[in-house]
Amino acid sequence: MPFHIALLGNPNCGKTTLFNAVTGASQYVGNWPGVTVEKKEGKFRRGGLDVVMVDLPGIYSLSPYTPEEIVSRQYITDEQPDLIIDIVDATNLERNLYLTTQLAELGRPMIIALNMIDMLERRGITIDTEGLEKELGIPVCPISASKSTGVDQLLHRAIHMLHDVSHEEDLSKGEGQLKSRAAELHRELHHIHGDLHESHLPYHPIVKSFYDWKVSAAIEAIEDVIRDLPGASGIPRFAAVKLFEGDPILVKNLPLSDKQRQMVEEILNSVPETPLVDRQMMIADQRYKFICGVCSRVVHKPEKPVVTVSDKIDRVLTHKILAIPLFFVIMLVIFVITFGPPGSFLTDTVSGFISGPLTGAVRTGLSSIHTAQWAVSLVCDGILGGVGSVLSFLPQIMILFFFLSILEDSGYMSRAAFIMDRPLRKIGLTGRSFVPMLMGFGCTVPAVMATRTLENERDKRLTVLITPFMSCSAKMPVYALFISAFFAKNKPLVIFSIYLLGIAIAILAGFVLKRTVLKGENSTFVMELPPYRLPTLRGLCIHIWERLKDFLLKAGTVLLVASIIIWFLQSFSTSLDMVTDSSDSILAAIGTAIAPIFAPLGFGFWQASVALVSGLAAKETVVSTFGILFGTADEASSVAALNSVFTPLSAFSFLVFVLLYIPCFAALSAIRREMRSAKWTAFAIVMQLAVAWAASFLVYQGGRLLGLG
Ligand code: GDP
Ligand code: MG
Repeated sequence: MPFHIALLGNPNCGKTTLFNAVTGASQYVGNWPGVTVEKKEGKFRRGGLDVVMVDLPGIYSLSPYTPEEIVSRQYITDEQPDLIIDIVDATNLERNLYLTTQLAELGRPMIIALNMIDMLERRGITIDTEGLEKELGIPVCPISASKSTGVDQLLHRAIHMLHDVSHEEDLSKGEGQLKSRAAELHRELHHIHGDLHESHLPYHPIVKSFYDWKVSAAIEAIEDVIRDLPGASGIPRFAAVKLFEGDPILVKNLPLSDKQRQMVEEILNSVPETPLVDRQMMIADQRYKFICGVCSRVVHKPEKPVVTVSDKIDRVLTHKILAIPLFFVIMLVIFVITFGPPGSFLTDTVSGFISGPLTGAVRTGLSSIHTAQWAVSLVCDGILGGVGSVLSFLPQIMILFFFLSILEDSGYMSRAAFIMDRPLRKIGLTGRSFVPMLMGFGCTVPAVMATRTLENERDKRLTVLITPFMSCSAKMPVYALFISAFFAKNKPLVIFSIYLLGIAIAILAGFVLKRTVLKGENSTFVMELPPYRLPTLRGLCIHIWERLKDFLLKAGTVLLVASIIIWFLQSFSTSLDMVTDSSDSILAAIGTAIAPIFAPLGFGFWQASVALVSGLAAKETVVSTFGILFGTADEASSVAALNSVFTPLSAFSFLVFVLLYIPCFAALSAIRREMRSAKWTAFAIVMQLAVAWAASFLVYQGGRLLGLG
């Protein structure tokens, strides 16, 4: 049996960074809270031990109010890992120790990894780690997870503790029996003396008490009552504190007998609540008092606080008036680089290579070995024309991701959420919803999953509904194809306007939904701003590689299959004869049947209809479908082909539709999972179709009224 080490800590304290450093995994690290929403496991071997390390979602406390807290708490109480590594962000010691005090009460083997030591040094702060170790009674290892300093010593100590754990387990079986015998004796004593408050129960100090004597005594007394109950055994102190606080899950799951319930009731009455301070607050208060005391003794700050670069940058980037314009300027610059000359040049080079030399060589090669005409067409027109037309946009996708990763890793994205909190609040959302929305620029699937961090079910539904309006990266090749055909002069601006439209529609939809089907109170927004950090090369590479992998996988599966199907449907007629003019094909027949729906939007011809339908498999398929239908033999002819069916106005209207209509199947199933309701999923689909249709209609008909096309 391998040993299990659980990584626990506040959001954004560096758990995943440590996890990756130790297990060699490449899990997603983002400089904002709420990136890891599920537990992840990784194995390693050290000191002769097999270890499974578990990366858990970040939490601020062990109360059961948010999904992350429930996941993490259940893991520790049910699975009982052999060792807990509590990661503490040293730059935020007081807040992080709050969780530490709760973890300590579990009475499980634990070690503190005091992370981000490098940041401390820069601010001229020192922490007396030995002092901290003594005050808490828990080993403390200073580390820097991102620079991999101290990680070795941490693991060394952890492995030592695991060795001890296996020893102690044998010993403690005996000790446990003694303890329960002692508890039994005391219960008998109470029976004789009757009154509980008066008797002084002996206390075996397993963990430090963080409370004043009254609360401590009550908790110890409860501990003795519940020690042997399932649900409390192994973690009696934790259970006692939670019972004292009136924790709903624990109270429900603890099988107290009537007698025991009455005993607990009596103990609780010895520490009465006041109208202002209930027991939960009492505990929180006293914990903080304890922590403040410890911090005042072990943290040494310089006389004059060092104004960090981070502070200086923030003065500008989160400036009251400048912040929002700056956000848009930053996004615009990214779009100019991605879609302007540098990005276009790369894409043109790749697409030139695929459609020119590569396709030519394959065609000659296949013909020279006497391959049947239909097979040559399948490979060259179907696969290379379809998948190849999408692959040529790969460089631009990489560039966009490179910049988004920098924004994310540096900590700017958290600022974006913070900056947007105020305007979002006006429409009844909070900055918290903005995080999934921003992630939506990458891919709707993880973005929808990220809504799990929203506590409030209604806010969560709302965010799931509007996140798909954010333009995901799969839609990018569609824009790129169309702008080079119709808007060559101001490529970045047209794309920027599409992205902005996505944000605007998302916000507008949020506004309307919040006032109609999803009415309710505003929740509060708490999000701390992590300090700016220089993105690490490793982090950037992980992000970009993830995207590349996704993309290549998609190209090799969904896009390939879709291309072959589209090629087949457009090469054969309903009587299965190979056609020379694709307007006689099966595909044309299908498309023509749907096309009238799109006529008022300016693209009521069969090619656009089938492209949109195929886009449900993956948004890139829209491009590969056009690639097959119009041929990408050379750019000039594909531009001419697009120009023969679209006008600039109907092309823009088409892009608006692609931006807003239903996301791909993968995203739909993520929506279904998060909504946990078929009704809401259906609502999402209908709403997105309606919004897309209405917006395109307005664009096209509005444009025509203005004489644009
Ligand atoms: P998690 O939410 O706890 O999993 O935190 P992550 O592992 O995603 O890290 C959050 C941020 O902290 C990322 O930007 C990391 O690069 C950064 N980070 C993690 N460890 C360190 C460290 O030791 N020093 C510094 N300066 N940054 C770190
Ligand atoms: Mg994480």
